[in-house]
Amino acid sequence: MLYGLKDAGYEAYMVGGGVRDLLAGIEPKDFDIATSAHPDEIKRVFRGCRLIGRRFMIAHVRAGEEILEVTTFRGPITDSHERDETGRILSDNVYGTLEEDAFRRDFTVNALYYDIRDFSIVDFCGGVNDLQARQLRLIGDPELRYREDPVRMLRAVRIANKLGFEIEPLSAEPIARLASLLREIPPARLFDEILKIFLNRDALANFEGLRRHGLFAELFPGTERSINAAKRDLELVRIALTSTAERVKRDLPVTPAFLYGALLWPPYADRAYELEFEKGHDSVSAQTQAAEEVLAKQQHRIAIPKRFSLPMREIWSLQPRFEDLRPGRAKRLMTHPRFRAAYDFLLLRAQAGEPGCAALANWWTQAQSGVVPEVPEELAEMADAPEPAGEGAPKKRRRRGGRNRRKA
Ligand code: ATP
Ligand code: MG
Repeated sequence: MLYGLKDAGYEAYMVGGGVRDLLAGIEPKDFDIATSAHPDEIKRVFRGCRLIGRRFMIAHVRAGEEILEVTTFRGPITDSHERDETGRILSDNVYGTLEEDAFRRDFTVNALYYDIRDFSIVDFCGGVNDLQARQLRLIGDPELRYREDPVRMLRAVRIANKLGFEIEPLSAEPIARLASLLREIPPARLFDEILKIFLNRDALANFEGLRRHGLFAELFPGTERSINAAKRDLELVRIALTSTAERVKRDLPVTPAFLYGALLWPPYADRAYELEFEKGHDSVSAQTQAAEEVLAKQQHRIAIPKRFSLPMREIWSLQPRFEDLRPGRAKRLMTHPRFRAAYDFLLLRAQAGEPGCAALANWWTQAQSGVVPEVPEELAEMADAPEPAGEGAPKKRRRRGGRNRRKA
């Protein structure tokens, strides 16, 4: 791969997270290639490659199973770069030298180039020192670099946790002050970044880090409000992230729908409660409206594609149906395609200590083994209504525990 470019007379190095992780003793996820070849020249060397233009041109080159990202050395930021009023760089397609490319990268440890010909490391920015000192340091003036691209603040938290490094104090200091610049980032880019942060073995540490630096409140303002009002909601998010991290470590599938279901549950449940018990909506319309409102607000910050928000809403809307313990209804619910995810979500609520959920979760755990479980005293009224043959009127349910807002 690298040889291909070199044989054609170009400079080419491995760079980025792969080199960094390798040197830090972590198994690298992938490698990026930086080269002096321009995109059309890369295309000539690798006929199978695809050029994708985001903020700058990247070539995707297949190397066996893997796709390598190949980028042309980027040149220095100049006044000719288009910026918005906060200093954010909008377009970026000026090519440069290896050294100029290094100074365009975010952290010193991300700007180490590995030359496979002589196994040497090229280090213009002091990355080797910082690697030894276990410091994540932004290259150049931190405030300026965060203003150029505010996503670097999120990357700082995520990469520091991945490496077990400290964010170097001068690189950490401006973050809380500049956190609101995240509002300028296109919601679709944030969606990708959020998945990297939370569908991750460090999901919980990343969450705590984002909160400590004031970033989480910018990304999930509704959730931040709810978890500050009720410990139980904070607990729910923490438990969800802990189990996500566990699944990632064990190579089990994790889904954005479940993740967002948990992250947005606190403001959703708060709003549904308010609509039903303070504004007098019936429970179904309160839930529907709450889901729509919470999602619409969240989309201003982070674009959640329909293929994730629909199943997420389904997980939510199945929750009240767990309160109907009549055998026929229960059996039918168990055949629902989203039953498993919704049941896992009920377990999560139970673990977080939502009133009444533990007994329910217990009942449903038993119910899945095939026998109809005994209904404990406290759940009795959920199982004793007559079961209509067709779609009868839903049985009136007692609200169990309520949301207990300001008391937690
Ligand atoms: P990981 O792959 O573990 O998420 P990474 O550092 O490899 O971490 P990538 O998004 O794959 O992250 O980026 C590859 C490299 O591109 C980085 O190591 C860095 O050198 C550079 N880079 C990525 N994002 C930025 C950015 N926002 N600003 C400057 N340089 C960046
Ligand atoms: Mg990478």
